[in-house]
Amino acid sequence: PETIMKESTDHAHAHVVLLPYPSQGHINPLLQFAKRLASKGVKVTLATTHYTVNSICVPDVRVEPISDGFDQGGYAQAKNEDLYVSSFRTNGSKTLSELIKKYQNSSFPVICVVYDSFLPWALDVAKEHGLYGAAFFTNSAAVCSIFCRIHHGLLSLPVKNEDAPLLIPGLPPLNFPDLPTFVKFPESYPAYLHMKLSQYSNLDKADWILGNTFEALEGREAKSISELWPGKLIGPMVPSAYLDGRIKGDRGYGSSLWTPLSEQCSEWLETKPKQSVVYVSFGSMVSPTAEQMKEVAWGLKESGLHFIWVVRESQQDKLPDGFIDSTKEKGLVVTWCNQLEVLEHPATRCFVTHGGWNSTLEGLSLGVPMIGLPQWADQLTDAKYVEEIWEVGVRAKEDEKGIVRKQELLKCLKEVMEGERSEVIRKNAGKWKKKSEEAMSQGGSSDKNIDYFVNSLPCHTN
Ligand code: UDP
Repeated sequence: PETIMKESTDHAHAHVVLLPYPSQGHINPLLQFAKRLASKGVKVTLATTHYTVNSICVPDVRVEPISDGFDQGGYAQAKNEDLYVSSFRTNGSKTLSELIKKYQNSSFPVICVVYDSFLPWALDVAKEHGLYGAAFFTNSAAVCSIFCRIHHGLLSLPVKNEDAPLLIPGLPPLNFPDLPTFVKFPESYPAYLHMKLSQYSNLDKADWILGNTFEALEGREAKSISELWPGKLIGPMVPSAYLDGRIKGDRGYGSSLWTPLSEQCSEWLETKPKQSVVYVSFGSMVSPTAEQMKEVAWGLKESGLHFIWVVRESQQDKLPDGFIDSTKEKGLVVTWCNQLEVLEHPATRCFVTHGGWNSTLEGLSLGVPMIGLPQWADQLTDAKYVEEIWEVGVRAKEDEKGIVRKQELLKCLKEVMEGERSEVIRKNAGKWKKKSEEAMSQGGSSDKNIDYFVNSLPCHTN
């Protein structure tokens, strides 16, 4: 939209290619960063896989395809993490290299590759072409710090701290339930663990390290990483939400791997009283068990509250029979939505979330109290911060089978929606909304860091 190009043209000839891992939770923050760069006059190209390329449409961000070797179906076609990662490395390196070469003799040669830290080979490609390389970490600084310490041999696997909290500089004491799944059970997730650790394998060659978080939120955690890579950390960077007035007309990310039922959601929300709706989503990847889905379903029904629940097409058969019909009066179940719009709507009061890092930042940036139902991976650590460090929500407790029961969900809903504790949480949510706005506003900590990055880019004026 019209305001995007106005701020500066000093870097109009600097061409940066951004490369996300092709899942929703990775495309969104990289795309958001691409928009920020474009708003500062940088020419940006987002390179993404053939399978995802058509799902992205943002003014001032050129989108170009590269190949992961599974052009028809992406990750789902590969069916296996190991196979996917190695195919992406081989095919991605070749096609990214071709993309860079395509621009070499143009008036906008690529000068820097900002790559998702899950794709460290992209840094090797950048360096082969003599370009700058910036690693973009999409997880929280706390989680990055844990894996970074494992890489440096400062923490050994598996982490077994059932008896005492784990103490990591810059982080609060972490109990066993707070730790990412892959560090507790490395043997069960070798491919994911390898992916997490390989982020650091060639990081000493990177010219910048960018983190998707902000100073007030995770300043100490970010410092604990920068102590291990001096001078490389220029984040904390963007919160993954758009902020009113910053880029006018920007109503969301501009990327959706599924069709969002935006109109249906906003029309429905319009009919609901202010601060009355519970929004529920498990994100784009998690596949909760049918038993867990059933507990959430009956919990929502019994609460009597209005709710919007995103249940992806692939998960719909886990809903209890008759659930949608029996809750029609109160609830709306959709296969996908524009999450930012739903969170921002005045009718929305509470976010029941799996606690992916983007969802966490979005809830926080838009001031919506959260109930964490973390399923695995980093979500466990994110939920700890939501409940205990930022105090913007609660974490639902699982039973011995790892299931959050209906009664527990009802208890959490009550805690977040009514009574004394809910007031504290609401106040904190408002405070963090303000802080994240400050970080992103002109002269705020993240904005300055982005300026620092942009000003470090050499301009090409041939
Ligand atoms: N999202 C969305 N619509 C939905 C559910 C999710 O647009 O119905 C977006 C959400 O705004 C977030 C991303 O999908 O930016 C999910 O990322 P997150 O890190 O929260 O979780 P993941 O899907 O990676 O587990």
